[in-house]
Amino acid sequence: MTHITANIRQRSFIDEDVLFDTLAVNRNPEQKLVVDIVEKARLMEGLSISETAALLQNTDREMDALMFSAARDIKLAIYGKRMVLFAPLYVSNECSNSCAYCGFAATNAELNRKTLSLDEIRQEVQILEERGHKRLLLVYGEHTRFDADWYVDTINAVYETRSGKSGEIRRVNVNLAPLDVNGFKKLRTSGIGTYQCFQETYHHETYRKVHLGGRKTDFLWRLFALHRAQEAGIDDVAMGVLFGLYDYKFEVLALLAHAAELEREFGVGPHTISFPRIEPALGAPLSFQPPYAVDDYDFMKLVAILRLAVPYTGLILTTRETADYRRELLRLGVSQLSAGSRTYPGAYQEAEANLPSKQQFTIGDTRSLDEVIYDIVTNLGYIPSFCTGCYRLGRTGDHFMGLAKSAFIHNYCWPNALLTFKEYLMDYATEATRDAGNKLIENELATITHTEIKNKLTEGLVRIEAGDRDLFW
Ligand code: SAM
Ligand code: SF4
Repeated sequence: MTHITANIRQRSFIDEDVLFDTLAVNRNPEQKLVVDIVEKARLMEGLSISETAALLQNTDREMDALMFSAARDIKLAIYGKRMVLFAPLYVSNECSNSCAYCGFAATNAELNRKTLSLDEIRQEVQILEERGHKRLLLVYGEHTRFDADWYVDTINAVYETRSGKSGEIRRVNVNLAPLDVNGFKKLRTSGIGTYQCFQETYHHETYRKVHLGGRKTDFLWRLFALHRAQEAGIDDVAMGVLFGLYDYKFEVLALLAHAAELEREFGVGPHTISFPRIEPALGAPLSFQPPYAVDDYDFMKLVAILRLAVPYTGLILTTRETADYRRELLRLGVSQLSAGSRTYPGAYQEAEANLPSKQQFTIGDTRSLDEVIYDIVTNLGYIPSFCTGCYRLGRTGDHFMGLAKSAFIHNYCWPNALLTFKEYLMDYATEATRDAGNKLIENELATITHTEIKNKLTEGLVRIEAGDRDLFW
């Protein structure tokens, strides 16, 4: 692993001129060029920034349809029908920064502030476990009072909480303020899965305009957060853009430039990419009228193009989007989905999905985990997965990417999805979901031609029916 000098960290590797030139050169691509690029994407080796710029600027709907169908095929080829499910857990809405788009901004006097105690965290976790969750994303405001030791305490509180027969959180990912390398080293000791940090916008001027106070005003400190995490040994890192702040075409190219920079420095790109769109948030006027709002059609296009450009990077879809629209996006290459989410601290103990006086932003899909599962099983034929096998067996970072790229992942992810889904059906599902889920598992088993895999999987499913839990390959 190369260590980056402080010197290099003083310069942004996002070269706006290069990105704008790339967009200019690839404007109005000819049909033949788009067809060729989509064909290349089907080889699943990714796309260059130039090729991506051409796809982003295609205006021919017929060609868009070609991209959508290639994105669907690539998703199925690499990830199969599985869909990893998780829930966010908001630990604190206290924040010292003033991001113009966020309800947690320090300047928002209307927000009721709350930081969960370790006991309150345990109570929230218990509720989530009783609904069947196994993977959580912990989310925190960025308060100067929070340090790495406290983050570790909160994560430990999650891992040590158990409920019922199989209620446990097996993987905690975190979305928290950028730390220094020593802070990340401490964070790593807590056994987190992925460290997420979204740049929000890679456009320097826009970044300056929307970050009005606190540590987050420092573009470079944030831009190199994932470098520092990697240096500290956290090899699953995740990036994202908050769409609506600046031109989405520029932002997609910048995301790819960031991914390429990580790959060059550390031999591994981001584990996942998130693409939140700005949702209304109390006390954040910008969130009601985002300056570069992305419409539904363009948003579908950008998700499909990301799938073509970085085929092996997980794409995460949150409950910011509505149920119907999420169904559309799922088909285009999303591999992870949050479900049954709330966006304020202590929310899982409350009845209301949306509580403007406490929450970060408004949720578009307020269905329960079980309702989401029923929907994706019956309407899309997807296999909900709670698998945490790779992370727990050390298959992370470039090791994970190596597996994914050789398509070997099918031999782990697919059976593990079925095993963890079976566990969910036994312990947490409603009757309708259990019936639909068991039928799906039967159909999947019927498709296996490899006798050894079929026998091993059948044996695992029988063991789960008999009471065994937490089986994974
Ligand atoms: N405070 C930390 C930070 O800013 O990185 C981590 C948590 S922050 C709550 C997580 C993400 O929420 C942000 O990175 C941003 O992309 C997203 N977000 C903020 N305001 C939003 C809004 N109004 N609608 C949708 N997403 C929003
Ligand atoms: Fe604070 Fe994060 Fe919201 Fe900015 S996005 S105000 S840093 S919680």
